[in-house]
Amino acid sequence: MRVAADLDLCQGHAECVEEAPTVFAYDEQTRQVDVLQEHPEESLRDQVKAAVAYCPAMALSLTHALADPTNEDD
Ligand code: SF4
Repeated sequence: MRVAADLDLCQGHAECVEEAPTVFAYDEQTRQVDVLQEHPEESLRDQVKAAVAYCPAMALSLTHALADPTNEDD
């Protein structure tokens, strides 16, 4: 899976950091999300899905990783 953040939408609520702290961080300088892992491992899928779902700005998206065509359920 691949995680992307749209910084035009991110408002720095940091809900994503609460949900998936190893994948997202809050950047104090930009006051926006910092994506720590663009390709998180499968074990983090639930956390990442929650982060995407709870982001109030709908700034996060989860897509297929092009390098891993076996992941057909994401
Ligand atoms: S929850 Fe959404 S708006 Fe808040 S920091 Fe994360 S990406 Fe940005």
